[in-house]
Amino acid sequence: KTGDQRTALIPRYVRVNTLVWSTDEAVKSLITRGFTASSPFDSINGFAIDEHIPDLLSFSPQTAFHEDSLYKAGKIILQDKASCFPAAVLAPPASDDSFVIDATSAPGNKTSHLSALMKNKGKLFAFERDKKRFVTLTAMLSRAGCKNVEPLNVDFLTVDPLDPKYNRVTHILLDPSCSGSGIVNRLDHLLETEIEDDGDQEDRLKRLAAFQLLMVKHAMKFPGAQKIVYSTCSIHATENEHVVRDTLNSDEAQAGRFYLAGRNEVLPQWHRRGLPDELEHPSKVVSPEIPSHVG
Ligand code: SAM
Repeated sequence: KTGDQRTALIPRYVRVNTLVWSTDEAVKSLITRGFTASSPFDSINGFAIDEHIPDLLSFSPQTAFHEDSLYKAGKIILQDKASCFPAAVLAPPASDDSFVIDATSAPGNKTSHLSALMKNKGKLFAFERDKKRFVTLTAMLSRAGCKNVEPLNVDFLTVDPLDPKYNRVTHILLDPSCSGSGIVNRLDHLLETEIEDDGDQEDRLKRLAAFQLLMVKHAMKFPGAQKIVYSTCSIHATENEHVVRDTLNSDEAQAGRFYLAGRNEVLPQWHRRGLPDELEHPSKVVSPEIPSHVG
């Protein structure tokens, strides 16, 4: 399939910003505007509530929300389903003593999702190294009404895990720079321009993976960390399963504080679990495959 054909099969996803209103209110408001609660593929006006991610709605691929007043008012977030899994899996508690890190935050879709799951309670430290992207992040957080977030224009790798400021952090989201190879056409704007293809692809992937591993290992140094979610928008095992495998073989994990959570703990209702072989056979070289849908 071409990029355009693939894009036509992917619903337009919209996450209801529950910091501002409820999904019930959003659904009622959409129905008064002529949308029909049915399926995103029924008609141009059809939409549905997602079966896996709470507060996520799916619309016809032709629906556009970029100019919509709900989007401009921060009442809805334009966020694809795949991008909603990391915060949903991290599932930080919504309480005053909930302390969370988003290590790589801009443009802030997952940060605002975490903030919503925390119901604006506790504290969410949101790191972003790049100055320009940091500006985008702060604008997004303000539009979405996130009040429990402390955005920091700081390189996560330079943060001292033993700084008392972070000693109550229990949950960490790590969504670092990656090749973006899993991003289908319509989402190209999410790609970071800072990453350029300057040479042999596998070489580049290995360099990205080395950086990603460094980031996860750094996250594991936070003394209170209980749960770390690592995500990429890549389809390459080099950046996914291999990073997880190397993480599990690292001294930090071998010390016994961390293990790979299984199906019963993470989205039991989701049938896909990546490529188990890639976790076990370090030397195998993978040829990438373009998936027919995101997720
Ligand atoms: N989580 C974001 C979202 O859902 O909107 C997308 C994150 S994007 C894939 C990765 C981000 O991490 C980029 O904005 C990049 O500038 C930032 N980044 C890369 N290395 C970093 C580091 N060492 N410390 C902090 N931010 C970093």
